[in-house]
Amino acid sequence: MSSPITTDAWLAFEDGWLAPYAMPSRASRGRKHPETDHPFRSLYQRDRERVVHCTAFRRMTGKTQVLVASVNDHHRTRLTHTLEVTQLARTVARRLRLNEDLAEAIALAHDIGHPPFGHAGEDALDECLKPHGGFDHNLFGLRRVDELEERYPQFPGLNLSFEVREAFVQHCGRTDAAECAEFRDSGGPLLEAQIADVVDSIAYDTHDTDDALGLGFITMDELCRVEFWTRAAERVHAHTPGLSDGPLRVAVVRELLAWQVTDLLEETANRIASANVRSVEDVRNANTPLVGFTPNVRCLKAGLERFLHQRVYKHHRVLRMTANGKRILQTLFAEYVRSPALLPEKHLRRWTGADAIIGPPPPGWVTAARTRLDGLERVVGDYLAGMTDRFAQLEYRRLFLPSIEL
Ligand code: MG
Repeated sequence: MSSPITTDAWLAFEDGWLAPYAMPSRASRGRKHPETDHPFRSLYQRDRERVVHCTAFRRMTGKTQVLVASVNDHHRTRLTHTLEVTQLARTVARRLRLNEDLAEAIALAHDIGHPPFGHAGEDALDECLKPHGGFDHNLFGLRRVDELEERYPQFPGLNLSFEVREAFVQHCGRTDAAECAEFRDSGGPLLEAQIADVVDSIAYDTHDTDDALGLGFITMDELCRVEFWTRAAERVHAHTPGLSDGPLRVAVVRELLAWQVTDLLEETANRIASANVRSVEDVRNANTPLVGFTPNVRCLKAGLERFLHQRVYKHHRVLRMTANGKRILQTLFAEYVRSPALLPEKHLRRWTGADAIIGPPPPGWVTAARTRLDGLERVVGDYLAGMTDRFAQLEYRRLFLPSIEL
């Protein structure tokens, strides 16, 4: 067979390839704004590509995962973390014959709603927006892809499929929020969404350890107190004796990744079999997570996470970075709310409506006419949440230290 593939041919391939509990593209609940099918890309393949081409995706390159960019240039950013999560999600989805395109789209989008400065940034915006419903990066991710991205004249946002959109809400602890209402009757998360969620923890547990070692926040001697690390090191010494220092570090990190992925695959396959899951409906109705680790690896991961919390996330340099980021966002928030004229025009339109702005609106792209009008605080929160770390720092300097040459 050498003819170019069509969407119909791809859907037929999915029928033959996917496990009965995988989500087939043809069974999707579709998009909010109806669109014609693409000649050679499935719904989820288009979702994946829409995420990669959107502005918020590119901005993840300048957003903190745990460590801000100024500290060094080889540790993870939000974007490289996302690529690691996506790679893991694809590997696991393919091995279990799940819908790899859907798992990939969910993984690529999973952190798109994170504000600058990591969790400190989220805390800062949550405090600023407390009287207006607070801030949650999952709900903001949904808002980003549903409303704030501007790529099509016909509709706001990226118009992603129901299954990719619902994954934002399933991650969110605020299921009583109004945005969650349309997803309430759809049942539990699909296996593809559960995978993206669980491999996120494989990626960050492993790469935070690696980054912290690389930056000298912790040493390999200290990690000898962590059972997961020492047991992974024993496995490395068994198959590749004689390693030490840097080569040992990368080998143990690789071993930790491989161990978690293998354990996840085996345990998930066992759970699917023992719960007798035979359809997407069975997945939706399952009342416990089907994707997960064995109790042994869960316990080892918990030990590593305790260590990371004590020794890395509370390291004085991390605390200083996050305190700084928090202060920058809170100060900017107060300043924009006090002087809304400082906001860029398109954000201002979402608060005032197009008519209140002097000057002709861009034809076909008037944000206020495309999305609902929001309160000023919410508009300011959206603007700040979209920024990269660096842009927030520059904006802070521009407003408060104008004499500094940039
Ligand atoms: Mg993540």
